Amino acid sequence: MNATFERLDLSIDGEFAISRGTQTDVETVVVRVSDDAGQTGIGAAAPDAHYGETADTVTAVLPALLDAVEAVDDPLALGRIERRLRGTIRDNPAARAAVSIACHDLATRRLGVPLYRHLGLESGRAPPTSYTVAIDEPEAMAATAETAATEGYTVLKVKLGTDRDRERVEAVRAAAPEATIRVDANEAWTPHEAVEKSDWLADLGVEFVEQPIPAEHDDRLPYVHERSALPVAADESCVALPDVPRVADRVDIVNLKLMKCGGVREAVRMVHAARAQGLEVMLGCMVESTASIAAACHLAPLVDYADLDGALLLAEDAYEGPTYAGGTVTFPDRPGTGVRSTR
Ligand SMILES: [Mg+2]
Repeated sequence: MNATFERLDLSIDGEFAISRGTQTDVETVVVRVSDDAGQTGIGAAAPDAHYGETADTVTAVLPALLDAVEAVDDPLALGRIERRLRGTIRDNPAARAAVSIACHDLATRRLGVPLYRHLGLESGRAPPTSYTVAIDEPEAMAATAETAATEGYTVLKVKLGTDRDRERVEAVRAAAPEATIRVDANEAWTPHEAVEKSDWLADLGVEFVEQPIPAEHDDRLPYVHERSALPVAADESCVALPDVPRVADRVDIVNLKLMKCGGVREAVRMVHAARAQGLEVMLGCMVESTASIAAACHLAPLVDYADLDGALLLAEDAYEGPTYAGGTVTFPDRPGTGVRSTR
């Protein structure tokens, strides 16, 4: 086996604003792992500075991670590969996820089956993915919502966390009266605000609230959870497997991401841990290219809620694979994750 990686910076179509700030481009690092027969698996890291990772930190640790894969020297030994990755570099989950995704792609290409089939899943079981409406002027958010609804998206994820939250949700609701609306405050609210806002959000028919308060104030989540008019989802508060039991009695839903937990198998473990705790599960992503979101699409039949539209925010995606036009996750008729370069 041998492996290579390359940095790939991608422009966002316009800009992407959440409560923490605005992005205009995204750093990714593409990983390719090849076997002796010349088959190649593709994965990518979409590091998030919020979790302490950048393209530089990813490229700094990838040589050690790829050495670990070559030391295992068995492309089908995916469990051992992920354990070795975690044993080699404990943090840096986006870097580990890139390697895990590439190895899962390679293994299932060799087996001649799509990744979801290897996992025993059925493509038709994937929930529809939401379409993200980033923070903007209320009229612009309404226009985005209306376009998405016209394109067939039935679920909208509205980013909040400003002093005009209510005006924004009212505008989106008016533009997409039939849509299922979820909101994500990305840690912007105080516990008191979270409870107060949940009342009018419920009146506007919102389904649930994601990450209302800062993760560093997780001890206040019970206050919000007991009083909120809406179910509460943890994203920044639920990063890796040990977080699942820790937040289980404080939220209703956990939002899992490959770039937070560090691997395909680790994500599957988190789904089952969450189920055992009585939680519902959402599968999300960063702003990522299809090179990495593809793997999450293959896990989507396992979960209750999907938020996998990150590649739609890019001006140009350098890869193609599973699609989700109109929200319906559809897999190409190819083995592996189905990812291939469009360049
Ligand atoms: Mg979120």
